[in-house]
Amino acid sequence: MAQFTVLNPATEQPVTTVTQVSAEETDAAIARAAAAQASWRAVAPGDRASLLRRFAAAVDAHVDELASLEVAGSGHPIGQARWEAGHVRDVLLYYSATPERLIGKQIPVAGGLNVTFHEPVGVVGLIVPWNFPMPIFSWGMAPALASGNTVVAKPAELTPLTAVRIGELALEAGLPEGVLQVLPGKGSVVGQRLVDHPQVRKIVFTGSTEVGSQVMAGCARHIKRVTLELGGKSANIVFADADLERAAATAPYAVFDNAGQDCCARSRILVQRSVLDRFMALFEPAVQGVAVGDPASAGTEMGPLISAAHREHVASYVPDGAPVAFRGRAPDGPGYWYPPTVLAPVGADDPAYTEEVFGPVVTVTPFEDEADAIAIANDSVYGLAGGIWSGDPERARAVATKVRTGRIRINGTPIDMRAPHGGFKLSGIGREMGRYGIEEFLEYKSVIG
Ligand code: NDP
Repeated sequence: MAQFTVLNPATEQPVTTVTQVSAEETDAAIARAAAAQASWRAVAPGDRASLLRRFAAAVDAHVDELASLEVAGSGHPIGQARWEAGHVRDVLLYYSATPERLIGKQIPVAGGLNVTFHEPVGVVGLIVPWNFPMPIFSWGMAPALASGNTVVAKPAELTPLTAVRIGELALEAGLPEGVLQVLPGKGSVVGQRLVDHPQVRKIVFTGSTEVGSQVMAGCARHIKRVTLELGGKSANIVFADADLERAAATAPYAVFDNAGQDCCARSRILVQRSVLDRFMALFEPAVQGVAVGDPASAGTEMGPLISAAHREHVASYVPDGAPVAFRGRAPDGPGYWYPPTVLAPVGADDPAYTEEVFGPVVTVTPFEDEADAIAIANDSVYGLAGGIWSGDPERARAVATKVRTGRIRINGTPIDMRAPHGGFKLSGIGREMGRYGIEEFLEYKSVIG
């Protein structure tokens, strides 16, 4: 049996060893999930809701343990990791309200009545990346379970620990065997089998556009439903009439949170030319003030990158002679550290400007006016997230309607994860979370009579 050693990205030391699941074991898990689905969908809606609330309570009782696992196995700062574990609880609670509200319609039709039913799709395959192992797992798992599906989940090979533990907590909370299974292993083995297996009726995939496109093609063979949350290269647009102090003070966290390993990172800052110098003067101390260090320390804001290979990939965007305007700090010694890095001015064909770096590297580009800002923001193959800073709310809203992106925040207003989260262009398809999220996990059946 293949073994995988999880390394602590902050120390490069082994955390634990995990047995990887084979293709045959994946098939067996899918068969168990299919068998469990008949009884899971038959659980009375109120009982299914109550089981999800018990599951949420079990997660709540283990927030500290889950957070410590994420610190050790993924290098997430402890404050962030606690929020992530608590978020899993909140997502479960949010969806625990839905089993009792899967209400259909009665439509008068010639010759009788058309009644619509919402039915679960069956077995859902959930493929999770390494950057946010807990939240992304919960966004697929909770609505799938709430709507009566069973779930076979594959965490990323690098970061399986919290998903495996949450799977154990589901059983401890009373979810029946086979309803939620977590299979650590390789994407090319376990993930591919979930895509190829005809009994898996929906795939929820989060990760790269390249693999997402293969997953979509694979799902087409079985006319399998698919939700794809893919890459991003989002713009943070700062107009001259903005509160520049706030825009500059918060801009580091819009891109360097989770060490920039965030599909929604606002990794292209666009600043109106007339205030560019002032913005850069404010931005430099803000970047240097980001607390980068031991993820287990309470004050840490940014930890290491996930792996040595990923650090090499990130560093390739900042070759010798790159236009580094300024940098933040990062520890020396063991750990996959990379300092917050600001590039300016950058050419429009610089890969650091056009590609998703997925690390703590940001570019700053001037623009002239609204039309120019919108054109630059939209000049990307992606369209996932974004930000607008302006003292004129009408302008901010007007620009927001013209930037082709899945979600955009004005003047740093926090995102509420209950709102739908999707993407334009190569950033994705489908919706998770939000009040429409549940529909992705349901079939619609009309009965006429
Ligand atoms: P990948 O697309 O390589 O991996 C995502 C998940 O898919 C992992 O669990 C991976 O498994 C699995 N996988 C890999 N190959 C297959 C396959 N053939 N069939 C089914 N599943 C497969 O992305 P990474 O995690 O390596 O991240 C790289 C890029 O992904 C980032 O640069 C970013 O663009 C994007 N990304 C976007 C996110 C978002 O939220 N929108 C989140 C994370 C990443 P394995 O464990 O073996 O890698």
